[in-house]
Parts: sequence; C-alpha cells; structure tokens
Amino acid sequence: MARYTESACRICRRENLKMYLKGDRCYTDKCAIERRPYPPGQHGQGRTKFSEYGVQLREKQKVKRMYGLLEKQFGLFYARAAAKKGKPGENLLQALELRLDNVVFRAGFADTRSEARQMVRHGHFVVNGHRVNIPSYKVNMGDVIEVREKSRKIVRIAEALETVDRRGIPAWIETDKKAFKATIKTLPTREDITMPINEQLIVELYSK
Ligand code: SF4
Repeated sequence: MARYTESACRICRRENLKMYLKGDRCYTDKCAIERRPYPPGQHGQGRTKFSEYGVQLREKQKVKRMYGLLEKQFGLFYARAAAKKGKPGENLLQALELRLDNVVFRAGFADTRSEARQMVRHGHFVVNGHRVNIPSYKVNMGDVIEVREKSRKIVRIAEALETVDRRGIPAWIETDKKAFKATIKTLPTREDITMPINEQLIVELYSK
C-alpha cells in the first residue's frame, strides 16, 4: 500500500507549522521546526514568495499531510465534500475528522495519527462492538469506539492515554480512559478544529 515516506519533521518545516506528527518529540526542544524554522532543502532559506496558486496548493498539501492522506484519497474526500449540502471546505474538514484513525488519535488512544492508523489496521479497535480495521472508516454521532479487550495491555495505548491531556480531547468526543472507550457525542463543527487551516483556499484550488 502506498504511503507518504518523507520525514514527519520535514513536513512541518515545509508547511511552516508545528503539526505534532511525532508524538513525544514534538513537546521537547528536539522539535525540528523550533530548531530550524525554515523550509527543508538547499534553498530552504531562500525567497519564499508564493503565487496565488502556490498559496492554495500549500494549504491543500498542509491539510493532506496533517491527516496523512495521499493525493488521490484527499481528492476523493474533497469530491464527496463538495457534493454534499453546505460549505465544501467545512464538509471536508468534518469528513477528515470523522475518519476512524483520526478519532482514535483525538480520543487519546494514540500519540499521532500515523500511530492510530497502524493500530486500527492491526485490528485493535471495535466500533459499536464490531471489529473495524479500516482507517478511513467513517464514524457517526453516537458511535462507541473501544480498544479490544486483549489489546488493552498495549503499552503505547496506556502511554498515549496518560499524555493526552497535554493536547486535550475535543468536546465532541467523550473518552472514558479507564474503560478504554470513546463516544462520539456530537459531530465536529468548524470551531472544534483549532489548527490554523484556511479551507477556503483548498476550495478555490479545486474549483479551478
Ligand atoms: Fe513537527 Fe516538531 Fe513534531 Fe517534528 S518534532 S513532527 S517538527 S512538531
């Protein structure tokens, strides 16, 4: 299966945004964007003036990489979001937030989205009592996501639950740490997504 292989820290530096893609390391002084706050590569410290298209493209790349999607997957998410009622940009962000791998990360069962995706693929979670190993699975309001009984001993999950408070669990998810369970209380709204994203730029890019 194809996947994005560039170093996580290079992604943050490229997008000039601390995206917390590496878990613990992001909270230490080893964070690459704090040490080298300029784009990677030989010309990283050169001119960085973007055209209108360049600005839109960078915004799309940023969101795509933040959620760990490849180009084609992201394009499909956008096409579905644009076909739905409402604002395409907000629909897109909501659909990305409702992916099972993102929910596992947001609920605190994993330190990063990529770790969450791997855990989902390995079948460590059940949704409403059924085992689901598809990271893009769309959860809905009222769904209950649990760590499987025999996966509750996994040290990474316990560690992630211990440290989740430093980034916080969004209000639309209720996590019961002791029961290894998360419930989707409401659907995420635009206000629930606090990372600096200008989704309108993505809409403009895809509308060309
Ligand atoms: Fe990004 Fe810093 Fe984390 Fe690397 S350590 S992924 S640069 S936030």
